[in-house]
Amino acid sequence: MIEVVAFDADDTLWHTEDIFVSTQNKLEEILTNYCETAHLHERMAATEKENVKLFGYGIKGFTLSMVETAIELSEGKISAEHIHEIIQLGKAMLEHPLRIMPNVEDVLKELHGKYKLAIVTKGDLLDQNNKIEQSGLAPYFDFLEVVSEKDTATYENLFTKWGDYPAERVMMIGNSLPSDVLPVLDIGGYGVHIPYVTTAAFERTDRVASGYRFTHLDNIKEIPAYLEQITLKYLI
Ligand SMILES: [Mg+2]
Repeated sequence: MIEVVAFDADDTLWHTEDIFVSTQNKLEEILTNYCETAHLHERMAATEKENVKLFGYGIKGFTLSMVETAIELSEGKISAEHIHEIIQLGKAMLEHPLRIMPNVEDVLKELHGKYKLAIVTKGDLLDQNNKIEQSGLAPYFDFLEVVSEKDTATYENLFTKWGDYPAERVMMIGNSLPSDVLPVLDIGGYGVHIPYVTTAAFERTDRVASGYRFTHLDNIKEIPAYLEQITLKYLI
């Protein structure tokens, strides 16, 4: 039986990735002053992938990756003024109003009290905590976790910390297969993939999720029925 239902936050509970995409488009506009921008998105993806190892996930690292990519693609010609503009783009992302996805609050209301509920999110600590606070959803949750990486060790540690839950009592729901679903399946938990319209380059994978503990849903509103279905199977 599932006892803990854990949710990813960015692009699962609220929109995030679309702001990254629109900011990259603004970066492209700035760079058209210096160079061809046909390979901008590719270059950004490569720089981000490298930088995530050093800066971690989040907007601060993304902003530095934009500056680095701009310097590279402009072959060092980008002006201080334009670099300043890029930094402002990053700050605007941090101040962007939070947009909670449809059906999220209804689902949390329905599950609250029946299961222990958790948020497991990665990114800049301050930014993620601000978003959780702004969302007004914190009272629905028993556990709020901002982690630097979502791998099997992280999940194992969290399940232990929350109350020694065996992985098969936990379901993790999120838009990223490599971060939210695969590591939880790997340790024997339940994983639900609800894709977002766009996926960051470093959240793509060739691995395929499978098994009876995995499912793919189109909308978060399907979660309560899916949980009931699992409980029913368990009781039979
Ligand atoms: Mg996410």
